[in-house]
Amino acid sequence: MLKINLSDYDAIRRHGEETYPYECCGVLLGEMDGDVRVVTSTARCGNTRTDSARNRYHIDPKELVRIQREGRERGEDVVGFYHSHPDHPAQWSQTDLAEAHWFGCSYVITSVARGKAAATNSFELIGSDESDKQFADESVGVE
Ligand SMILES: [Zn+2]
Repeated sequence: MLKINLSDYDAIRRHGEETYPYECCGVLLGEMDGDVRVVTSTARCGNTRTDSARNRYHIDPKELVRIQREGRERGEDVVGFYHSHPDHPAQWSQTDLAEAHWFGCSYVITSVARGKAAATNSFELIGSDESDKQFADESVGVE
């Protein structure tokens, strides 16, 4: 399960509206509370995909390292990632699964329909390695 406060939840949905019709992406920082990932802040990333930014996203590894380091300085870990699906459902794609490598992290997808954020869903990347990884639906608790 993913727990997120309303302002961070709104921030990731607003990000998707701002970048529409292109995908947005970013990182969820926080901490584990038992099995629950608790988001304590979010970091926006630039989508480095220029070939197909409408339906692909890519976070610059250097940007991710910087976000991770700055988070650690505040006592936060990377607990997940988010991106948007402009005019597509909030469901993961085969490409999303292929490009997901952080086991035990949440992958949050917001559908942005004609510029307005619609459904937001989260999926946990489970499995032991690349060959058996899969996404599992998980609930999102907004408080
Ligand atoms: Zn996607």
